[in-house]
Formats: sequence, C-alpha cells, structure tokens
Amino acid sequence: MAEQKLPTRAEDFSEWYNQLVLRAELADYAPVRGCMIVRPYGWALWENIQAALDARFKATGHVNAAFPMFIPHSFIEKEKAHVEGFSPQLAVVTHGGGKKLEEPLVIRPTSETIIGHAYAKWIQSYRDLPVLINLWNSVVRWELRTRLFLRTLEFFWQEGHTAHATYEEAQAETLRMLDVYTDFARNEAAVPVIPGRKSESEKFAGADVTYSLEAMMGDTKALQFCTSHNLGQNFAKAFEIRYLDPTGVLQHCWTTSWGLSSRVVGAIIMVHGDDQGLILPPRLAPFQAVVVPIFKNDDEKGAVVPAAKKVLESLTAAGIRTRLDAREGLTPGFKFNDWEMRGVPLRVEIGPKDVAKQSVVLARRDRPGKEGKSFASLEGLADTVTKLLAEIQAALYQRALAFRDAHTVEAGDYSQLKAGVESGFVLAYWCGRAACEERVKEETKATLRCVPLEQSGEGRCVVCGEAAREKGVFAKAY
Ligand SMILES: [Zn+2]
Repeated sequence: MAEQKLPTRAEDFSEWYNQLVLRAELADYAPVRGCMIVRPYGWALWENIQAALDARFKATGHVNAAFPMFIPHSFIEKEKAHVEGFSPQLAVVTHGGGKKLEEPLVIRPTSETIIGHAYAKWIQSYRDLPVLINLWNSVVRWELRTRLFLRTLEFFWQEGHTAHATYEEAQAETLRMLDVYTDFARNEAAVPVIPGRKSESEKFAGADVTYSLEAMMGDTKALQFCTSHNLGQNFAKAFEIRYLDPTGVLQHCWTTSWGLSSRVVGAIIMVHGDDQGLILPPRLAPFQAVVVPIFKNDDEKGAVVPAAKKVLESLTAAGIRTRLDAREGLTPGFKFNDWEMRGVPLRVEIGPKDVAKQSVVLARRDRPGKEGKSFASLEGLADTVTKLLAEIQAALYQRALAFRDAHTVEAGDYSQLKAGVESGFVLAYWCGRAACEERVKEETKATLRCVPLEQSGEGRCVVCGEAAREKGVFAKAY
C-alpha cells in the first residue's frame, strides 16, 4: 500500500487528500453517504486533540457533561434565526419503537436549544452564575457535499455552553475561549491562525457576534478552524434562562457557545502534509517516534532487535509515544515509506553497526533525506529525542507561517483583490456593508473569512471606495 505513490499535491491536491486519509488509515467511507468511519489511527489523533483541549477547558474553569442527541422539534423553532439557519440541515426522527412519534425529534445539529431548556431550570439566582459546561459529542448536519473529516453528516466535536450575569462577562468568555483555541492551534497543532470576527452574513444562526480562527491550507485555501459565539440574550429569551440579581430583580442571562470539530484533523493534514504523506505535529501525533530495526540475517537480528526493544523502553519511560516496528517479512525501506506516509515525526533506525557503536540514526519526517538525518548516542537518547521533537514542532509552525505569509497579499484596489484570491489570502479594507462582501463572493467565489481582531489605521473599501476602518481577510475556503 505504501509503495503505491500518492498523487502529488501540485497535480491534484484534493485527490492527494482523499487518498492520504484512506491510505494512512485515518478514516474510511461509511455505508451511509456522507458519514465517516474514524479508524484507530485517526481516532488516536483526535484523542490527543481532545486531551490538549480538555486540559485547557478545565484550567479555565469549565466542566464536562453529556446531553441527549434527540431534541424535541419544537425546541429548534424557538429561536428565529437559529431555526432559519439550521432547518435545511436537520435530520428528523419521526418513528420510534415501531410507532409514529407525536412530536418528531431532531438529531442535534448543535445543542444550544436543549442547553437553554436545562439552564432555565438550573439557574435561579445570580449565585448560580456563571455556568461553564462543555460537551464532547457528535452532531448531525445534513450536508450535500461531503469529504472525510472536512465535512461529514455526522462529525465529532466539543461544544462549550456558558451562561453569565452580564454582557461584559459573556463577551470576555467568548474572547477567552478564542484565545484558548489560538493557543491550541499554534502550540499543539502547529497551525498559524488569524483570530477574527465573522461578518453578519457569516455568523452563527442565533449569535450576536461570531469569532473564528482562520487557517491557510497547503493549497492556499482557507479553513475555519473553530468558532466562538456571543449569543447575547437570544437563547436566554427564547428559553427563559433568568436569574434574580442581588437586588431581587429578575434578569435574562447572557450566554455563549464555542466549538472545535474533527475537521481540525483535516486541517492538520492539509497544513503540514507533503507528497510523501502526513507530517504530524509531535505534540498531537499518535506515535511521536518509530523504531525500525535493520538486519539482514538471524545473527544481526539477534543483536539488533533486543537493542531496538531497549530504545523503545527508554523512550516510552521518558513519556515519548513510541512504536517499535518489528513486523517480519517487510524491508526497512518499506517500513520507512509506510511511517513517512503516516506522518510519524521521528524515525529511529538501528542496525548492527549502530549497536556496535552504541548509537542510532534519527530521521526527521519534516526534513526528508540526508538533511534530516543525524547520529545520536544511546546514552541520553530520550533527552535527545525530546529536544528534537520540540524542534520539529517549532519548525512545522514556522514553515506553515512562512507559507501563509508568502501567499498573503494586501490589496489596494479591487483588481488586486481579484488576482490575490486566486493564490491565497487577501487583506483589504472593507466598509462593513453586506453589499460589498456579496459582490466579492459573486465575482470571485472568495468569501470574507474574518475581520482580524488586530487592526491598525484606516483606508478605503476595496470594493466601493467608501471610508473603511477595518481590514478583512478574503479567501476561497473549504
Ligand atoms: Zn464597501
């Protein structure tokens, strides 16, 4: 399998992605169109993503809970914008236990409504606030065009739902979680992201304001990495989430929600991967190092395999996720290609000469060929590997950042914008009007990805020429 070549990214980025997901055994197609089977290697990657996020959520005061996947259909209709946004994507259950249900059930496309129902019961007083709950679950949205990890009918994610006494607290929470995601993206996934605000037309159905992180993929298209919404009092009013303030007055709460999904696996593939396959950031890789013993006969095997096992033990003891590839009947070259395709950040080669010299060869996945190879002594190997993994992690981020910078232009006029979105991100002034945003979308197929939080100066709208105080990021997107 690993010896069949993948299409190159330059030839066909989309096909490179599809084949890689299948061949690296991250996921497989399901019998129901648009659904996804996540295989153990893909799930291990997702578990590491979950662990990195979950620790951050807990460190910022959040707790986990579980809510039902079935939601009464009437709930979805309670918030006007929410129902308009989600109706076309709903999966509805009409029968249960062989009988037609009195009220159809919706399979959750997101949980704001059922959360609203519960929070209305749980919250009575200002003393009950804030409520800071996160859910790890899967949701269903009936998408028409689907791709493994990037857009599937059912996908895996977390959704945070919080309730607060004031607008200011809710807004602070919305931005705090965007910061948490930014930290995760940069330091765990090694993905450079642009934190920003969504336009009115791109915001979440039912939110006052939506913020997102936008990342550039290896084909220069944008991908929305995650979102964080300030829901204002929209759901609090629809579901009567109220509290008695310290003066005894009944007030509506202010709520937020924020989510990051398994499409981030797709982002990691498309940001870091090369023509040989995946390149996984060490902090999230299911295996950070793979040990490959090299021998030609039983004598050599007798010396090499025990030494390889010792390497496995010492790296594992140091907390490095390590795999020993002791598979019989496969050449070292086949194994090298196989693990390169699966994106393991570091390969540890050990042959008879290495055993004699009490050393190993280390091969970096992010730098193929001789350039990425070095000798390392068995003594202190775990330290050497730990340092090298940190270097690889940093190098992946820097490479992705350099790539994004090289494919981002500032457009002073509309023709520059039109040209720029053909090969990356365009930063340009925007007056804030939906008409200008819409014209870009219609004429270039690029969308306003976000209005970055970091802004300076003012200028003229790239579309209409009116005064503008903010720049937007325009790009074609997944
Ligand atoms: Zn304009």
